[in-house]
Amino acid sequence: MTFENLNIIAPITQALKQKGYTEPTPIQQIAIPHLLNGSDVFGTAQTGTGKTAAFAIPILQKLYLNHSDSRTGSIRALILAPTRELAIQISDSFSDYSKGLKLRHTVIYGGVSQNPQTAFLRKGVDIVIATPGRLLDLMNQGFIQLDRVEFFILDEADRMLDMGFAPDIKRIITKLPARRQTGFFTATIPPEIKALANSLLTRPVMVHAAPVSTPADGINHSVYYVEQSDKKALLQQVFLTEDIDTALIFTRTKHGADRVARDLNRIGITAEAIHGNKSQNLRQRALNGDKSRSIKVLVATDIASRGIDIDRLSHVINFELPEVPETYIHRIGRTGRAGEKGTAISFCASGERSSLKDINKLLPGTIEVKRILGFKATENLLVAPVIIQRPRHAMQTNRFDSTSNNPRRSSYRSRY
Ligand code: AMP
Repeated sequence: MTFENLNIIAPITQALKQKGYTEPTPIQQIAIPHLLNGSDVFGTAQTGTGKTAAFAIPILQKLYLNHSDSRTGSIRALILAPTRELAIQISDSFSDYSKGLKLRHTVIYGGVSQNPQTAFLRKGVDIVIATPGRLLDLMNQGFIQLDRVEFFILDEADRMLDMGFAPDIKRIITKLPARRQTGFFTATIPPEIKALANSLLTRPVMVHAAPVSTPADGINHSVYYVEQSDKKALLQQVFLTEDIDTALIFTRTKHGADRVARDLNRIGITAEAIHGNKSQNLRQRALNGDKSRSIKVLVATDIASRGIDIDRLSHVINFELPEVPETYIHRIGRTGRAGEKGTAISFCASGERSSLKDINKLLPGTIEVKRILGFKATENLLVAPVIIQRPRHAMQTNRFDSTSNNPRRSSYRSRY
């Protein structure tokens, strides 16, 4: 299967070749023809499946083939995303795929001055990628009209509702023309998402890609049992023993993220915490820093990490395990992307055993128990001082015994 088989026009296939896309991903194979044929699409897909190109390519192709001058202030395609980072990434994807097409797009988000955004809008754009709050703001000021929108995409719809955007989205929807094509993408389908999808879509084609409980292939999973108070030292040790290129570390709280980033910087590992409280510039610096490899490590909570797309992320580290097992799958989706290898490392304190058990049920037999000698384990059976800076050969591994369903026993066995 190639993009040419999907009847994608040459300027776009050439741009995709430059990006190194040799064949469409499963969601692209299904969604692209339906969107080209005029259908609405309801897609359950998370980041890492290629869903952005699944809607961006057909939008670009249809707008290009049916070109009309974009009247000032009125737009032909609107993509809504929950976070600024995701909006910027979608916009970057549109830039990549639309080389050679004379279509203009822009990205709109809050937390920065609106002037450059409105200046761009005044010149006329075909495609707007936006977060809901700033979009509404600019609509209310008369900078944007949605009455000529032909394509409407709601990306990461479940996260938008989680983040409290439902009222904004409803207001935006009332301004859209009834005759339009809609793409609705979500990772999960709680009842309120069903209701929203029903109100937006007309006889949609359902596309399911990489369901939430299917982890990306090629990811190596491991867990260390460790006291909460030893996690900091263990993290340092992991950086010494593992070959870490770029990592995203998950913490439960924003303060935890700051603390972990600070501790890593103290030992010479360039890390930056990202969370909603920080200014857009700081968040973007963290992201760009990671892209240019000057920052090796980002530390984030689940909320702050949403929409982050870092190419070739080598490691995901769960400094704290998520309580919901599906969140683990979502986190590890940040590594091993688009067929590459990735590593997921988790730290499990005694209070997190039940979370690990649930995750293990979702991924039976895949999580390897690792130990670094000298670390106190969580069972109080081995009372040894915490030693950091151990050489690589001091590391022992054994496979989690999923049949016993008892992490305590299997880690006990690994020690004796
Ligand atoms: P997304 O799910 O849209 O966030 O995309 C995840 C990653 O897959 C991004 O880094 C894309 O550049 C990449 N990607 C998307 N489509 C393809 C494809 N057909 N072949 C290879 N990589 C792709």
